[in-house]
Amino acid sequence: MAIDPIDLTRKLVNIESTSYHEGAVGAFLADFLAAQEYAVERMAVEQPDPARTPGGGAGERFNVYAVERGVTPDIVLSTHMDTVPPYFGCTEDDEFLYGRGACDAKGILAAQVAAAERLRGAGVKVGLLFVVGEERDSAGAKVANRNPRGSSYLINGEPTENRLALATKGALRVELRAHGRMAHSAYPELGESAIAKLVEALHDVLALPLPIEPEFGEAGATTVNVGLISGGYAPNVISDKAEAHLLVRTVGPSQEVKEAITRAVAGRAEVSFSLDLACVRMRRVGELPTMVAKYATDIPSLTAWGEPFLLGPGSIHVAHTPEERIGKRELLDCIDLYVELATQLTR
Ligand SMILES: [Zn+2]
Repeated sequence: MAIDPIDLTRKLVNIESTSYHEGAVGAFLADFLAAQEYAVERMAVEQPDPARTPGGGAGERFNVYAVERGVTPDIVLSTHMDTVPPYFGCTEDDEFLYGRGACDAKGILAAQVAAAERLRGAGVKVGLLFVVGEERDSAGAKVANRNPRGSSYLINGEPTENRLALATKGALRVELRAHGRMAHSAYPELGESAIAKLVEALHDVLALPLPIEPEFGEAGATTVNVGLISGGYAPNVISDKAEAHLLVRTVGPSQEVKEAITRAVAGRAEVSFSLDLACVRMRRVGELPTMVAKYATDIPSLTAWGEPFLLGPGSIHVAHTPEERIGKRELLDCIDLYVELATQLTR
């Protein structure tokens, strides 16, 4: 049965699969791929404790792995089944499919299913791996990485506007916690403001000169976002605690950045690094057009699945927004690109 990738995208977008709620889309895909005569495996992925994770812990969820029966794949096409909230279903016009996950990453997933069908027809040993949890903590990729299937190459799908990524920037999550002593604000000499210490430390962190990678072009700067800040009780109370959570997008090894931040904070707050996803470099293949992705992917968590590549239709600029969409033409073009890349790698 020939696969209609546009229709498959429509169906996938119409199944809500916000992170931690991927069970229904996983079941749909497992059945769909079994009907395409793949041997399909469900890799169970644990739910986080709902008491500690808002929105977490709902029902079973699992990665879906598909390959022809008895085959060890040379190449695996992979992306994620989960999306960010809030959910909205599929609408369309002549040019685009709209909806949550249209480009991140359900259109990509459908293109990979269609590409695998063609590759299989051409005798390429190809597998498909669709994981949960990419938008939160790469939980699905980590489970998959403990269960590799012998592939030499991994083509990961994220929106790269149909260009081959030469790198993905790393992501370093930094948490600063300042402590002080409460007092009446009329008597500052009796207290010690955690908020003042935190603000001063943040000021120095934001002023830091951080590494630049000229090879990455306009994506070459290390960037810092202070995304969350909290602390305090009332204007007339000197606060004893305050904290800030930062996300740093790195362009090389994170060690140098960690040391620079710790030095800049200079003891005014506790510094902890709660996530450290490496910046990854990938090679050029043939004449495929290239880019550098400023965002992080599951690739650092899928190291056991072969040499990584990153390619997919759609724009990251509309992912995670109410305007999320995928161009129908672009989606179909990407099937050709996946086939071309996989063929070049495995010939
Ligand atoms: Zn994505």
